[in-house]
Amino acid sequence: MLQYAVLGSGSSGNSYVFSDGTVSFLIDQGYSVVELKRRLERFCIGLETVQAVFVTHLHPDHAKGVGILCRRQPAGAYISSRSMLEQPDQFAKLGIPLQQVFPVEPFEVVEIGPFSLFCFATSHDSAGSVGWFITYEDQNLMVLTDTGFTTVEHKQLAKDANILFLEANYDKRMLETGPYPLYLKRRIDGSHGHLSNEQALLFLKDSGFAGNHIYFIHLSDVNNDPALLEKAARRTIQTPFTVCHKNQWYGPQPEAL
Ligand SMILES: [Zn+2]
Ligand SMILES: [Zn+2]
Repeated sequence: MLQYAVLGSGSSGNSYVFSDGTVSFLIDQGYSVVELKRRLERFCIGLETVQAVFVTHLHPDHAKGVGILCRRQPAGAYISSRSMLEQPDQFAKLGIPLQQVFPVEPFEVVEIGPFSLFCFATSHDSAGSVGWFITYEDQNLMVLTDTGFTTVEHKQLAKDANILFLEANYDKRMLETGPYPLYLKRRIDGSHGHLSNEQALLFLKDSGFAGNHIYFIHLSDVNNDPALLEKAARRTIQTPFTVCHKNQWYGPQPEAL
């Protein structure tokens, strides 16, 4: 049976787990191993079942725990070849044993147990950033985070997804009137920054997403308010959704909530 969970999302750490009970993998690993283990246990998933980590990009909140996990157990780290080539220092800093590194290209299919995955390009201030599309039996799951804008390709993929993990980083008005210096505001709302609540909701409409559930992820704790997003989402979409509060965990299994 497919299990999945948001282990945590936001600027202090990001990780998502997918499992069939025997084989598990992560998208991103921004935690210490102790913290990761604690979060996995909440969903009754053993750390030792984690066979791979698929990385969206090399920012520390997404990638800083990949090396420590791979040094502890023989998990493979799947990273876009462009991010390794164009950010050699950041990549080296992760300290992943090289025999466990698997560089991937967009749309190159990787099989892990009963799962197959491929990545697709996103637009972020970390070269070679990607999102991931996962297939398990007849279920498709998509993780789209840390992107300044969405593309036609993203929309086509979302149309085929059953479960969508979608960035809603900031509320436009809160960002504009908030405490960040102007250069940072322009970085966040620029084409290599993050998706706003408005962009995320428009994306859902434009893509014709017809899946079962949306997890809104990577909310800024300074420039967003989960209640605001919740209200706006209720007005515009019919699909059940979860607004993931900073650093909290979310899964579909009621006993894990
Ligand atoms: Zn980032
Ligand atoms: Zn991020």
